[in-house]
Amino acid sequence: MTGKLTIVGLGPGAPELMTPAVAEVLRAATDLVGYDTYLDRVPDTNPAQRRHGSGNRVEIDRARHALQLAAEGRNVAVVSGGDPGVFAMAAAIFEAVETGEKSWRRLDIRVEPGVTAVLAAAAAVGAPLGGDFCVMSLSDNLKSWALIARRLEAASRGDFVVALYNPTSRARPHQLADAFALLRQWKPADTVVVFVRAAGTAETQVHISTLAQAHTAPADMRTLVIVGAEATRLIERPDAAPWVYTPRSERGPQ
Ligand code: SAH
Repeated sequence: MTGKLTIVGLGPGAPELMTPAVAEVLRAATDLVGYDTYLDRVPDTNPAQRRHGSGNRVEIDRARHALQLAAEGRNVAVVSGGDPGVFAMAAAIFEAVETGEKSWRRLDIRVEPGVTAVLAAAAAVGAPLGGDFCVMSLSDNLKSWALIARRLEAASRGDFVVALYNPTSRARPHQLADAFALLRQWKPADTVVVFVRAAGTAETQVHISTLAQAHTAPADMRTLVIVGAEATRLIERPDAAPWVYTPRSERGPQ
């Protein structure tokens, strides 16, 4: 099999946050496969290139289609926002490989990383990920709310900084408030909570809150929520939003 398939991450939005390696894969591809919103972010530099856009919810179909194209000998780039391995297409491709045609295992399949939302969001406010942190998706499309609740509890008991992807959606408007209600059982009410919308773009918006107040803050599908650890703190500044950081040492600066 001569076909090639690379799953790439475009980064959070700004073109300069896309890696040169990803730009090169996109330039060389004969076929681009992905969610329409992400394909729209790929510059149209190669007129011979074919684009196969699709809706947001058809990931496995999209993955099979991409593998089929690669099996026909095409050079396929599958496009994700942020990093393709973080709640995105890379795992969908491997799921399709595991359950699909045996011959697909001979394909040249690679993953090309990107700047994931939590890194861009953290950079917008300071260094909230300076200690140990974990990331979770609050979407219960692919897992139960019971499992989400169990993981929120474990992350809280471990005093991790918790970054929440997919905090809310039109279909799940109460999810984030429900998560905050659970977190309040285990984390102090004054825990720092940061909302970053459109991180790593020209339209970034930051809102800093506490766990006690967080349920009143706005969040949408382009928002990343970071819930601090006990040591996460603010450095106040005159005439500017505070910096948020988590010390690297357990006891913080002495
Ligand atoms: N693969 C992507 C994540 C896909 S899940 C990545 O690595 O970033 C989609 C969720 O990611 C969104 O609901 C939102 O919580 C988060 N997200 C993606 N891009 C973002 C951005 N520019 N700013 C803030 N959050 C973002």
